[in-house]
Amino acid sequence: MSDRPFFSNLKCRECGRLYPKEAIHICEFDFGPLEAAYDYDAISASISRAAIESRPKSMWRYRELLPIDGAPTVGAQVGFTPLVKADRLAARLGVKELYVKNDTVNYPTLSFKDRVVYVALSRACELGFKVVACASTGNLANSVAANAAAAGLTSYVLIPSDLERSKVVNSLVYGTNVIGIEGPYDQVNRLCSEIAGKYGWGFVNVNLRPYYAEGSKSMGFEIVEQLGWKTPRHTVIPMASGSLLTKIHKAYTEFAKVGIIDAEPFSVHGAQAAGCSPISTALKKGTDIVKPVPNPQTIVKSLAIGTPADGYYAIRTMKETGGSAEDCTDEEVIEGIKLLAETEGIFSETAGGTTVACARKLIDSGKIPRDESIVLCITGHGLKTQEAIHEKCGAPRVIKPSLREFDALVAGELADLAKLETATV
Ligand SMILES: *Cc1c(COP(=O)(O)O)cnc(C)c1O
Ligand SMILES: [Zn+2]
Repeated sequence: MSDRPFFSNLKCRECGRLYPKEAIHICEFDFGPLEAAYDYDAISASISRAAIESRPKSMWRYRELLPIDGAPTVGAQVGFTPLVKADRLAARLGVKELYVKNDTVNYPTLSFKDRVVYVALSRACELGFKVVACASTGNLANSVAANAAAAGLTSYVLIPSDLERSKVVNSLVYGTNVIGIEGPYDQVNRLCSEIAGKYGWGFVNVNLRPYYAEGSKSMGFEIVEQLGWKTPRHTVIPMASGSLLTKIHKAYTEFAKVGIIDAEPFSVHGAQAAGCSPISTALKKGTDIVKPVPNPQTIVKSLAIGTPADGYYAIRTMKETGGSAEDCTDEEVIEGIKLLAETEGIFSETAGGTTVACARKLIDSGKIPRDESIVLCITGHGLKTQEAIHEKCGAPRVIKPSLREFDALVAGELADLAKLETATV
């Protein structure tokens, strides 16, 4: 590492006051959120495409722009998921150049949350925490549980008690302390703030939030590198608290700032489910005042945050970049999941269906032009939210282990199959 630390301070997003790099997240003067600040001159002088390309394919290849002092102690293999050129989905959506950033296969818990936990828990270790915790809509709980287990940390994960079965099992299996709270996410989150204050634990998305949030930038860095060091013209991003959207914007901007790429125009667009769409609703109304949704009603539980912490900043980011926001019904979410699976072979959770469905609406309404490059951020695996799609994609046709029964089953389909064979010869 350099003798000049690249990660210099925490900084208030409102007044710009600088703070030490501790487990704090709010400005004492105006209650603005604190964010990691870097010495960009020092980074410019030391970073290069060649250096990044020579490093292992994980988030740590972008080390100069991550807020930890040493090497990560948690999740060393997180990140560098595939960017898939999605030509078959592009044809269905009627666009020219489309990519899927596939975080359904992020290591180790199959969602983009491994990126934020990687940074938050590594920083928690640097700050000396022995107990880590989180308030979660499911994926964060899975990731904290797994990564804390692998790092030998004690963890508590607090979740709404009505989460999908797979998300609950995917936390319990690691031997973490899983606490179900009877109430929506916002009440879980409020309780966690009280616990963090009283017990002094490292809550990844409360007192460690400035570190946690920076982990999301790695998704943006990877998209740029995987496009051959280019920024996509449009990026469609699912929004819960709105943090991922603001951090992908920060990633694109930082790469230009440190001279890794030329600054090119880009727009970031946000996707939400209609049953909990405080951010997209505000943006569509033309206001930056986010009206809380006290009682979210949607199958998209991972995005069901009624009082989004970064909603205001997400709106500002979309507006500044000429982006837009959409929301979609639960029916459309399921269609989105199926469309992505049937065209690209990628099974996403409900948040991914939301992104596909909202992207389709933004394209159809002309907000995303059909001839410009588009990246869809697909953030979690479909096996985690099976109940949403179960009974919505048919059932296997069951027969006896007999060739005669199989013959009968395909009899009506033989003409079609023959056509396929002549077409491929
Ligand atoms: C947490 C989450 C998001 C977005 O979260 P933000 O709070 O907006 O950063 C998106 N997709 C999935 C699957 C998630 O779990
Ligand atoms: Zn401030």
